[in-house]
Amino acid sequence: MSLENSFSKLCVSAQADSLAVKSLVFKPKTPKSAVPVPIVVVALQTTSTASALIAGETGTKDPRLARDDLFASHFKCGSAKDFNLGHLLQAASEFKLLLDTAIEHCQDGQILKLNDELSISKSDLSHYLQQFQPVTVDFSQEAKKPITKASASSAGSTTPYIQTKSAALEDAKLIGITVDKKLDFSGWYQQVLTKGEMLDYYDVSGCYILRPPSYAIWEKIQRWFDDKIKAIGVENAYFPMFVSSRVLEKEKDHIEGFAPEVAWVTRAGSSELEEPIAIRPTSETVMYPYYAKWIQSYRDLPIKLNQWNSVVRWEFKHPQPFLRTREFLWQEGHTAHLTKEDAEEEVLQILDFYAGVYEELLAVPVIKGKKTEKEKFAGGDFTTTCEGYIPQTGRGIQGATSHHLGQNFSKMFNISVENPLGPEHPKVYAYQNSWGLSTRVIGVMVMIHSDNKGLVLPPRVAQNQCVVLPVGINAKTSDEQRAIIHQKSKEVEQRLRAARIRAFGDYNDNYTPGWKFAQYELKGIPLRLEFGPKDMANEQITAVRRNDNRKYTVKLSDLETRIPEILEDMQKDMFLKAKELFDSHRVIIEEWKDFVPALNRKCVILAPWCGVTECEEDIKDSSAKKDDGEEFEADDKAPSMGAKTLCTPFQQPQLKKDQLCIKCQRKAIQFTMFGRSY
Ligand SMILES: [Zn+2]
Repeated sequence: MSLENSFSKLCVSAQADSLAVKSLVFKPKTPKSAVPVPIVVVALQTTSTASALIAGETGTKDPRLARDDLFASHFKCGSAKDFNLGHLLQAASEFKLLLDTAIEHCQDGQILKLNDELSISKSDLSHYLQQFQPVTVDFSQEAKKPITKASASSAGSTTPYIQTKSAALEDAKLIGITVDKKLDFSGWYQQVLTKGEMLDYYDVSGCYILRPPSYAIWEKIQRWFDDKIKAIGVENAYFPMFVSSRVLEKEKDHIEGFAPEVAWVTRAGSSELEEPIAIRPTSETVMYPYYAKWIQSYRDLPIKLNQWNSVVRWEFKHPQPFLRTREFLWQEGHTAHLTKEDAEEEVLQILDFYAGVYEELLAVPVIKGKKTEKEKFAGGDFTTTCEGYIPQTGRGIQGATSHHLGQNFSKMFNISVENPLGPEHPKVYAYQNSWGLSTRVIGVMVMIHSDNKGLVLPPRVAQNQCVVLPVGINAKTSDEQRAIIHQKSKEVEQRLRAARIRAFGDYNDNYTPGWKFAQYELKGIPLRLEFGPKDMANEQITAVRRNDNRKYTVKLSDLETRIPEILEDMQKDMFLKAKELFDSHRVIIEEWKDFVPALNRKCVILAPWCGVTECEEDIKDSSAKKDDGEEFEADDKAPSMGAKTLCTPFQQPQLKKDQLCIKCQRKAIQFTMFGRSY
């Protein structure tokens, strides 16, 4: 019997609740003359094992996944594909073994699935691995804080991890969120999205996969918004994603605003393109040549087209899922009108729809207003916006923008008609708008509502609104009673679905109700419906809200009316809670000395302001300092970045007579909202 076979003797058959485990072998970088010491990493399949962390833990340089030759020379095993932990017994020389703490935290009886053939209990695996003196490593450290290039190259340094340890949640379950929202917001955000299955990372930096739970939310938004714009005469169309440089560069201010982020196709297969082709960062210049062609008479106006598409903006700033991504989904509406009034009316109409997406669907309060000259859309006349607020970081976030382009583009692209007053009058250039709302909305929603247990989703947009769970079944429960509880639970689910409530049930007896509760809390299912023997006796069901754990007892006879009411109340309460946080952190500040302290209290600020761009820049620079005046780098993590103007709200506090600008000696013309922002 070979040594490998003695390992397989420990193995058992896989079970439904087996946890998949991976065994990876890394080869560190060593001088050519030296014999490399392989590093074997045993971790849960779901654990991300960053090579920088492996390097740090083993004091090695640049470990890479080993190639087949190392498996052959070191473990007498043909290839990486054939390798299993049994081969460790055949090692030709020393190796290092790293063991994921997540495995250590499993129950002894937990079955771990090593590959299609081999499964083993956790206790047997620990015992087996003990002979190789494993070092246990908390790989979740890596998820909490992105490792910078600098720290990754300084092998053996563990400093980057120490400060994040305090953010680990004390009682976090293995599958749950292990980072505290208060202590490490970006690490928390990343975990909530990935563990909640909203999104996955992709091997092109800045690009992400939208998984069904987040795409379902996008579809809800699409349907709602699409109905609204169709009701005001907008039609959907689709234009190509490619744009020639000649056309892209036609409007100078516009292209200046986008140039650094434009991605270009320069090659097809192995041949260089004669002329590089840009991928749209937005479609003004793609669409408007055709507007010029199609609009021949004032009777052709207005033209109102919208497209649901994706655009590419090749940003180099630190990417953030949903908020700053190189490709994102959005809608872009482009309309042309005969009169300025007609166009301006639509700009505000669309802005109301955008505010509706946030407030009515996502339970996120926003402030509507106008962007400053500095922050407006490149090439447009003015930009209106709805601005949100992220309480945890105290930062403002641009929600969606609706632009009036005036006649800038119509003059450039010659979108003109004869004057309705007669041919003796000069021809009229169309007044245009463009407006866009992107998947960023989903990120804002997650940041505002979700918590340390996972996602919290507003019922109106959640893919699933209710999960029905049989409870109170234990060893003493008879098979007959268990069957009845399951049957009744399924009836509840079916009745809810018939009433157009998005419900599903989980009748798997291999998991405890507690485990299921945690799972569905992680995924943000708005309402948990528990049905057990007591509920059955009383002809009721117990409903628990995800946002605040509030419990309701609902008579089975009232199911179809009560559950929608509870969901609607939850939606309202989520909005009110977020609104109360925004309202209490939006403060009027009239003296400069109070400005930075208010920012540091995580507030956004309404301040009397002169409206002058130099003053706006001065405010940003002057507020980009800590209280003690110490300079700092305005990067993504810095809490004391400078305050930008977010918008000039349409709803204005009253200016005092002769009130001066908060920063300079000019007269204030309005209250403008300032804040640190995303
Ligand atoms: Zn000023």
